[in-house]
Amino acid sequence: MLEYQARKDLLKNKTILVTGAGDGIGRVAALTFAQHGATVILLGKTVKKLESVYDEIVAQNGPTPAIVPLDLKGATEQNYIDMAETIAEQFGALDGLLHNASLLGALGPFEHIDVKSLEDILKINVTAQAVMTKALLPIMRKADNASIIFTSSGVGRKGRAYWGPYAFSKFATEGMMQVLADECDQTSVRVNSINPGATRTEMRAKAYPAEDPTTLKTPEQIMASYLYLMGEDSLEVNGQALNAQ
Ligand code: NDP
Repeated sequence: MLEYQARKDLLKNKTILVTGAGDGIGRVAALTFAQHGATVILLGKTVKKLESVYDEIVAQNGPTPAIVPLDLKGATEQNYIDMAETIAEQFGALDGLLHNASLLGALGPFEHIDVKSLEDILKINVTAQAVMTKALLPIMRKADNASIIFTSSGVGRKGRAYWGPYAFSKFATEGMMQVLADECDQTSVRVNSINPGATRTEMRAKAYPAEDPTTLKTPEQIMASYLYLMGEDSLEVNGQALNAQ
């Protein structure tokens, strides 16, 4: 995967939903998927940011994207069912799902965990992904083949002091990926997780305020891994916890 070079038309005729598509890694993933031919469904909280990504894709002559304004904190199962129906009507099937949106929350000692914040983090980082996936699976099974990518973190693979609910939400993400991947084994749907590693975004700056962001890789620099998992070169890859290269 280190040397992976995606073909320009790798994702042609594919419809891919990206959560948290307005900023950071999700924004760049949406742009990159569109540059490789995909029709991207941009899901996120801040409509202005989604519109700006939409405009960028159109300006680059990419396939016309779609916008789904949705705050994962308040979203209900019905919201996801309605979304799946709309996608089915407009596109017939869904080929890719990148679960990227997440909430970091406050870092600090265990005794300082704020219960409301804990519940919000688990809702956005875990429950929303499970319920959304449940609603979208039937239209992903309609695709010739489909890829679901969960976004993990180093602290979702080995616990680290003071990382609190964010860390255990990422362990849950890995668990969800493994359970679903095992269920999807030998089917047309593959399910994997990716740990982006330290990447220059708002979230990273919030977690490490004293760090010089220019020392970090940019989201653009990790896109080969995302393209690999989303495109058909990874058809045989299922249930893997990968690190972005
Ligand atoms: P950012 O904070 O830069 O972007 C997160 C995106 O998620 C934003 O577009 C944000 O929307 C969206 N989002 C947050 N909360 C909600 C919500 N309630 N409903 C809908 N959308 C929401 O994060 P990164 O790009 O850094 O992170 C992307 C993923 O990578 C995350 O899962 C993160 O945990 C993971 N990761 C990142 C690392 C890094 O170094 N950057 C390292 C390891 C893992 P809005 O802007 O509208 O709030």
